[in-house]
Amino acid sequence: MTRIAFIGLGNMGGGMAANQAKAGHEVVAFDLSKAALDRAAASGCRAAASVAEAVKDAEAVVTMLPAGPHVRQVYAEHILPNAPKTALLIDCSTIDVDSARAVAAEAKAAGFRVADAPVSGGVMAADAGTLAFMVGCEDADFAAVEAVLTPMARAVIHAGAAGAGQAAKICNNMLLGVSMLGTCEAFALAEKLGLAADRFFEIASKSSGQCWSVTTYCPVPGVGPQTPADKGYAGGFATAMMLKDLKLAQDAAAKAGASTPMGAQAEALYAMFDGLGYGGKDFSAFIQMLRGKIAELA
Ligand code: NAD
Repeated sequence: MTRIAFIGLGNMGGGMAANQAKAGHEVVAFDLSKAALDRAAASGCRAAASVAEAVKDAEAVVTMLPAGPHVRQVYAEHILPNAPKTALLIDCSTIDVDSARAVAAEAKAAGFRVADAPVSGGVMAADAGTLAFMVGCEDADFAAVEAVLTPMARAVIHAGAAGAGQAAKICNNMLLGVSMLGTCEAFALAEKLGLAADRFFEIASKSSGQCWSVTTYCPVPGVGPQTPADKGYAGGFATAMMLKDLKLAQDAAAKAGASTPMGAQAEALYAMFDGLGYGGKDFSAFIQMLRGKIAELA
């Protein structure tokens, strides 16, 4: 049994902390939200009154917070001054690469082992313990990081040194944003050309256009496996979250001097869709705009 401090018990963190408790670990949890803290207590965690209390005596500290500024603040003001130096610090939030590297450098300078370990998979995977983790940490620390993450994971992959997990996450999600927009355009054009969506699905799934956005997450209702398209584009991966990740990718590209014109276009298109008021809809709902059916999105 490991004593784990879990900070950030929202949509993702709530289920992740519950899976650590289910695996038999002692989980001491904290969130600014009383409702989130109560849910964690109901799922087997012990509620702490502050980050400082949660991390005191922890063997591992896992954070699942909204964005870079939250992680920087919680680390600098609460975790680093209060956690034992032996604690393994793992941030699973999706944040900018610079913040991840800065936090890792501060933690290392203070004598801690540290990893960035953002996840792929949404709330359902968090609840089911089937997330994919992309880890940035020193080689010597990876086995210990993997052991802590395993109760929440279907895969834990070492991406490289500090910040590499976040780099992998934003590159993957930029590719996903671009591939989903291409998939939406292809299905909308197929419709205009008189092709049945299920026929095109079968053909594209077995042809060179095949990709996850087509075969696993088809944006057309009633086609392929169950997806948010079958539930009025509710749930799934919100447009606003995709936009956040695309902005992180563009910021990183600008700083690294990388040319990412498709990523920039995806960011602009999702910013427009978000600006029209569809930030809460699944990111595959973009197809309804191309099909002239945007009014059907409640
Ligand atoms: P969320 O907003 O539901 O949860 C964040 C939680 O952090 C909230 O409960 C909030 O009260 C808490 N919090 C904020 N500041 C805090 C502080 N100083 N101390 C303690 N608690 C604090 O967000 P989420 O959907 O759980 O996402 C968390 C992270 O996971 C984000 O970085 C997101 O990009 C990433 N992510 C989300 C999904 C998804 O599908 N929701 C998928 C992959 C990755």
